[in-house]
Amino acid sequence: MLTGESNIISESPSENINTICCTWQDESVCESCSIKGKTYCRWDRKHLLRFFYIMSPALLITFGAVIVGAIFTGGWWRLGALFGYFALFFIVETRILCSHCPYYSKEGFILHCIANHGFIKFYRYHPEPMNLFEKTLLIIGFILFGTLPLLAQIPSIVILSRTLPISQTIFIILLVLLGVSVVALIFAFTFLFTRICANCVNFSCPFNTVPKEIVDDYLDNNPNMKKAWLDSGYEKNG
Ligand code: SF4
Ligand code: SF4
Repeated sequence: MLTGESNIISESPSENINTICCTWQDESVCESCSIKGKTYCRWDRKHLLRFFYIMSPALLITFGAVIVGAIFTGGWWRLGALFGYFALFFIVETRILCSHCPYYSKEGFILHCIANHGFIKFYRYHPEPMNLFEKTLLIIGFILFGTLPLLAQIPSIVILSRTLPISQTIFIILLVLLGVSVVALIFAFTFLFTRICANCVNFSCPFNTVPKEIVDDYLDNNPNMKKAWLDSGYEKNG
């Protein structure tokens, strides 16, 4: 934790010192912090790029496979439905997940963080932890996020299987793309959970695995967030 709350410096005088997390305060607040370097608590381009390297290949492959299937079977509605779900997911996700994140506490309409960087902030910052409903909804949302891009590929494969052997080549290509999509998504989510979620400062997310002592120290650095967490029933060590 910091040696004293007086070390906390706002980015600009207009910003509320109590609501903006140390993540977005002047870097001088970090000098005496015991958890410096132990989480992704400061915005860093490297963290954001790591997120894109982890997620982009899987998303490109799965969406590419759905597009290839649509070209040969005409099922473009599946691609539209997939885009629709992802748009809905991100709008809901920013409320149930991101609005509780210290990265979200910065003023402004654009989110700056290590994943959903550049998203519009439709909601106010919520310093309290995610509740059970939000956690449940997020888990369901992520399950659909990982499975719908695969399920959207299956109808094209079934349709082409009815016209074998004429459509044999594209049928095999789609089967291979489905297999590669499964592997790519498994890799993406494995790296997401072990590299990003293990270091993220949105501590109440059900996928977050940052150790409790680091969470407690972060709360000590952020009185507004700490009060909201204690009021929600969180029990701190010490
Ligand atoms: S927890 Fe806060 S004060 Fe400590 S290093 Fe991270 S951003 Fe800086
Ligand atoms: S929870 Fe993740 S995606 Fe959302 S604001 Fe925090 S770092 Fe960004």
